[in-house]
Amino acid sequence: LVAFLLYLIYLMPSLRELVNAATQYQRGAAAVARISEVESLPVETPGEPPSVTHEPASVTFERVRFRYQPDLPEVHRGVSFTVPPGGMTAFVGPSGAGKTTVFSLVERFYEPESGRVLVDGTDVRDWPLAGLRAAIGYVEQDAPVLSGTLRENLLFGAPAATPLEIDDILGVTRLSAMVARLPDGLDTPVGHRGIKLSGGERQRIAIARALLRRPRLLLLDEVTSQLDAVNEAALRATIADAATTTTVLVVAHRLSTVTMADRIVVMDAGEVRAVGTHADLVTGDPLYAELATTQLLATAHLE
Ligand code: ADP
Ligand code: MG
Repeated sequence: LVAFLLYLIYLMPSLRELVNAATQYQRGAAAVARISEVESLPVETPGEPPSVTHEPASVTFERVRFRYQPDLPEVHRGVSFTVPPGGMTAFVGPSGAGKTTVFSLVERFYEPESGRVLVDGTDVRDWPLAGLRAAIGYVEQDAPVLSGTLRENLLFGAPAATPLEIDDILGVTRLSAMVARLPDGLDTPVGHRGIKLSGGERQRIAIARALLRRPRLLLLDEVTSQLDAVNEAALRATIADAATTTTVLVVAHRLSTVTMADRIVVMDAGEVRAVGTHADLVTGDPLYAELATTQLLATAHLE
């Protein structure tokens, strides 16, 4: 018993870290739900392998109305937009506009009161939940880095990734040069017992981890918000590359992250005000023009 307790204490720090990493709020609970869902999935009929595709998925909101609680105000008041497969779509708008909620509804952490959320043309309520979550990569601001080696961090969700795939994703995420400089390369310990990583490197490691699972849809929530210009540029290149193989949805404040988007969805107080390119919107939407000249430019530093 004593040995067992000692063993538990020995495990504690890494356990706690793992729990912290996974417990992004309801996302942790969702991970647990995902595991039990996987366990309770019916056995596949022999001779009918599940069709696993990595093709970029489309996303459609049809007049989505949503509130978090019956007694709280509506957060989405008839949100509609269509994102075709592939490319990059940015969501902008004041804080509280309902941007992060778009992501939560896509991942089906919540369901609309009315209207529909479609991924790849199928209502998310008709997707097997495990399949839906497996198709989506999600990275937020301050993405966690686990203790362990860089390789363990990258392979967390994709243990079967090949060295070629890892190399490819390190290129996409602009981490190759950094890894090449490390004494033990991918086997270098990171996290709080390992080498110090910059905020930008942490974000790109999180994105690399998500991309190695080959998601059909990549959701990035404010990943560039706190980065300096150099790291933001690397992340911007990462997003542009990722958008050639998957559908990328980005919530971003920074003008430089937003201008390159294939389309920008401007949200305000739970409604979509306008959809267009940066060029369309600076002339076509007063709110966007205002965001661009005040908030967005204010955080754009020297770019
Ligand atoms: P944004 O990402 O555009 O800043 P959010 O989608 O996070 O906006 O939030 C939209 C509104 O919903 C805000 O008023 C916010 O306070 C509220 N909200 C967000 N998450 C929750 C929650 N889990 N429970 C209750 N209200 C929430
Ligand atoms: Mg948000």
